[in-house]
Amino acid sequence: MVSITVYGGAGEIGGNKILVEDGDHRVFLDFGMSFTRMGDFYEEFLQPRTNSGLRDLLALGILPKIDGIYRQDLLELDRLRETLAELGVADDSLWAADVRSYKEVKERDGRPAVDGVIVSHAHMDHFQHVSMLDENVPVFCSETTKAVMETAEEVGRGSFGTDVINVGKRSITTQGSGAFFPGTHKVEVEPVLRPVNAVCAGEPFAVGAMEAALHSVDHSVPGATAIVVRAGESRIVYTGDLRFHGMAGHLSHQFRDALAGSRPDVLIMEGTRIEKESPDSESEVREECTRLVSEAGTALAMVAFAWKDTARYRTMIDVAQETGRTLVISAKLAYLTHKLSSLPDAPVRPASEEPNVRVYLKRKGSMLYSKSDYVGSKYDMGCSAEWDRKDVSTIRTEHYESGVRAYDIAANPDRYLLHLDFYELNELIDLRPPLGSVYVSAVSEPFNMEMELDKNRLKRWLQRFGVNPPDFEPKYAHASGHASGPELLHVTRAIRPKMLIPVHTEHPEMFQQALAGSDIEVRVPALGEPIVLG
Ligand SMILES: [Zn+2]
Repeated sequence: MVSITVYGGAGEIGGNKILVEDGDHRVFLDFGMSFTRMGDFYEEFLQPRTNSGLRDLLALGILPKIDGIYRQDLLELDRLRETLAELGVADDSLWAADVRSYKEVKERDGRPAVDGVIVSHAHMDHFQHVSMLDENVPVFCSETTKAVMETAEEVGRGSFGTDVINVGKRSITTQGSGAFFPGTHKVEVEPVLRPVNAVCAGEPFAVGAMEAALHSVDHSVPGATAIVVRAGESRIVYTGDLRFHGMAGHLSHQFRDALAGSRPDVLIMEGTRIEKESPDSESEVREECTRLVSEAGTALAMVAFAWKDTARYRTMIDVAQETGRTLVISAKLAYLTHKLSSLPDAPVRPASEEPNVRVYLKRKGSMLYSKSDYVGSKYDMGCSAEWDRKDVSTIRTEHYESGVRAYDIAANPDRYLLHLDFYELNELIDLRPPLGSVYVSAVSEPFNMEMELDKNRLKRWLQRFGVNPPDFEPKYAHASGHASGPELLHVTRAIRPKMLIPVHTEHPEMFQQALAGSDIEVRVPALGEPIVLG
């Protein structure tokens, strides 16, 4: 008996966690973080507690209570009972777990409860909570997705819950003789590498007893795939996130054509923009940005866009070209292009080989542009992918030597189009943009309260520095990573599944309305409730 249970992404955008089950065999499609659920309880300064993080997320219902998938060290540390006894803690209820770890279930049953997780693409709402799964749960994804996940971890802040690949395993140990209380207990973190299996699109692979294959699709991050799974007699297709209007739109068309008329048992379809009638257009973003950047005249032009979105980066290379400026990108994005360019189907060249692209060297640490300020980072001063603390030859300095600094831009603002994200707005203080400078937000417009607050902050920055006169309003130019309603329905009718399960949407009922009377049964998933096939 095959069933599908949606544990995240039912009636909400993101946080996808979809379990495909065939008797004892179980595979997850994505295991993402739900921004909605996290935001329901947490914000920047109210976060899960580092050494209780998984338990906190389970207690709040942000993660599902499922036996046999999670890390042992996040549920119950080794030697916990003995330690509590030694500490004289009589009531151990604070440490009780009503969820069994992967390890416990595997030892009890002689086999793991889950055979693997297949990640569709490297957006946090699709992969971030893989960090909570036991590191022995096999992970499968495209090679590019693996590289983007690795990069995200390398350039991230390394906070709790971000250890997808370099897992920080926790264990109980004791304080050394130099401590205030030598011999007392503490929790230590030791790095362990989580193996991630990179698979080629189109090549079938086994996940336990099931067979799966990836199909490349176009989305706002490189390496995105749809997933086809054969579970027993059932064939299940999961779109991940996709669009047709991007520069790699042909990939999504190929995916649709490859499965057209195949009538799988289930199509699990994303519906982010099901209510939108018309498709977005990346070429319109290019035209609009070119127009706005031209308005800067002899002043500075700046643009914000997601650093993982290499398609948008290429659009900005075109915009810079058309407006006679040099594109100056963030060191993070330069590092991503460096990592991706070594892959067989590289979606980009390394930024260092782009004739009209340079890298911004920002001040940090001592704020003196001292080389020592950058040695703790793999990417700020140069692309040091093999960074090793003990070996100075692994630290590269190309951005230090030939990058662009704030005073270079301040001296010749009309020469540059600067990639400047919201979180880098402090740079405006150093850039001193002349009156009439332009800031384009090539990101989505605010769609919740927190984003509205950020938009108001952005407006104050623009006003303070005389950017985007006369009203200093943020100017948006964006095309979404998702297909429009008519495109989603066209794919659905082409593939013609027996059953459609809409996920990653706030309007699943719109699929029901649109497909009423057809031979496609639309099942709106309820969180955590299995949908049994056949
Ligand atoms: Zn996505």
